[in-house]
Amino acid sequence: MARTGLAQDERFQRHLTGPHHPERPARLAAISKAFDERGIAQACSGIDVSRIDMDLVRRIHSQAYLDRLRQACKDGLSCIDVPDSEICRESYEIAQLAAGTVINAVEGVMAGGVDNAFCAVRPPGHHTERDRSMGFCLFNSIAIAAQHVIDKYGLERVLILDWDVHHGNGTQHNFEEDPRVLFVSLHGHPSIVYPGTGHEFERGRGEGDGYTINRPMLPPSGDEEWRRAFDDTILPAIDGFRPQFVLISAGFDAHKLDPLAPLELDTETYGWMTDELVAVAKIHAAGRLVSILEGGYHLDALADSASLHVTRLLDA
Ligand SMILES: [Zn+2]
Repeated sequence: MARTGLAQDERFQRHLTGPHHPERPARLAAISKAFDERGIAQACSGIDVSRIDMDLVRRIHSQAYLDRLRQACKDGLSCIDVPDSEICRESYEIAQLAAGTVINAVEGVMAGGVDNAFCAVRPPGHHTERDRSMGFCLFNSIAIAAQHVIDKYGLERVLILDWDVHHGNGTQHNFEEDPRVLFVSLHGHPSIVYPGTGHEFERGRGEGDGYTINRPMLPPSGDEEWRRAFDDTILPAIDGFRPQFVLISAGFDAHKLDPLAPLELDTETYGWMTDELVAVAKIHAAGRLVSILEGGYHLDALADSASLHVTRLLDA
C-alpha cells in the first residue's frame, strides 16, 4: 500500500457557477460521498488546504489577468473573459485555495510524507492561458505546480499527463518552449471537441520541440484506442524522458456517460491509466505523483472513475 494524500474540502464547493453549469459544486459532493462510502477517504492522509503564495501564481499568470479576475469577483460579475467561465464573489479566493492545495500536495510528496496524492479541487485549471481564462478554468494549478518543482527543487524533467477529454491548451502553451516539461495530452479531436487545439503537429517549439505530445482521438474512440495510444507512443516517449515527477491533469470527461464529449471510455480505463503512470513514477521518479481533478460532468461516472483512480494510487 502506498501512502496516498487526499485533498478535499467543502470550501471548494463555494465557487458558484450558476444553476445550469456543468462545472458545479455537486461534482465534488459526489466524489466526497463516494470516497467516504468506499473507505477511500479513511485510507488516505489528509492534505492541507491553504491559499497559495501569489508569487508562485505570477510565474504562470500575468499580473494584469490576476488583477482583472480579482476585480471581476469583487464587482460581482458573473463570468471572466468568456461566458462559460462563470465566477462568483468568492471564486478568486477559492482558486487561490485550489492552487495552494496542489502545492501542499506536491510538498507532501517531495518531503516524503506521502508517496502520491489526489487533489479533488475546483475550479479546474488546464485551459487557463497566461493572460486569460478559458473553459471554466481560473488558475492553471498544474502549470503552477510544475513550475514550482522546477524552481524550488531544481528538477530537470517533469511529466504532465493530461487525460481530460479537452486539450490542455493553457498548460501546453505555458511549457511549449521548455524541454524540462514533457506535456502529453489525450483528448477529443480538435476538429470536433473544445477548445479546437491539440493537433498531432503541435509538438513544442524552439528548445521545447518534441516535448509536447498530442494524441487527438476521433469519436467514437474508446478504451482500445486510448490504451493503444499509451502502449504505442506515450509510454515509450515517457520512458525516454525519464520524468523525475509525474503530474496528472485528471479529467474524467472522456467517460462514455459524460455529456460534454462524444468519447467512450469505461471507468476501468482510468484505473488502467493510473496503474501505468504509477509504474512510470516508480521506475523514474521514486513514485512521486500528484493528480489534480480537471473535468468530469456525469456525477456517477465521475465518482466511480475518481474512486478507482485513487484506489489504484493507494494500491501503488
Ligand atoms: Zn474537460
